[in-house]
Amino acid sequence: MSYQFITSAKLPTRHGEFDIHIFENDDGQEHVMLTVGLPVVDQKTADGLSNDSDGQSNQNSAASAERPTPLVRIHSECLTGDAFSSLKCDCGPQLNTAMQAIQETGCGAILYLRQEGRGIGLTNKIRAYALQDQGHDTLDANLMLGLPADARIYDMCGPMLAHIGVDAVKLITNNPDKVAYLTEHGIDVVERVPLLVGVNDMNAEYLATKRDRMGHLLDKDLNTAIHLNK
Ligand SMILES: [Zn+2]
Repeated sequence: MSYQFITSAKLPTRHGEFDIHIFENDDGQEHVMLTVGLPVVDQKTADGLSNDSDGQSNQNSAASAERPTPLVRIHSECLTGDAFSSLKCDCGPQLNTAMQAIQETGCGAILYLRQEGRGIGLTNKIRAYALQDQGHDTLDANLMLGLPADARIYDMCGPMLAHIGVDAVKLITNNPDKVAYLTEHGIDVVERVPLLVGVNDMNAEYLATKRDRMGHLLDKDLNTAIHLNK
């Protein structure tokens, strides 16, 4: 699957102003990147036409050598959490906290990947919620529907980060799979920044399942994320 930059614009938010960049894959599916303090380095893809980018690239290489390592969050779409403030998961608070943290550092990006419900889609996610209403946990519900626990892919991250000339990141995540994926694909994760927000009575069990059955790095009280040892 290949990914193409389409367009970008300013996006003022209650956390501050971002640049919003739209990418599309071969099937026309859209993915989104929000950035702060990270100029586009690939002018050829930035304007979709010009090949006369050498001078600009050199300028931007010099700029990237001077800037701090950007704070990056890879966030997969969760309509119920991100837009409707669902208490069944921690996605909404995680997204908002990451946006705020990136604004505070002044250099970073949110890669907002349109793979709803850990990649199974909105309809299947709600089917799984119906099973959870009957007492099954988030993982078993997916398995009962014949769906993988996690169907997300991350192959759009490389092209998105390349667009802003980023090959090293401080990654905001509790998920060691994301660290491993980026590292395997040539992105240097210089630091994992743990993120734990939005724990409530409704999602504590969901978070415990992510910790106990899906390898997320959360401690037994769900209070503090644990640093990677390596
Ligand atoms: Zn969610």
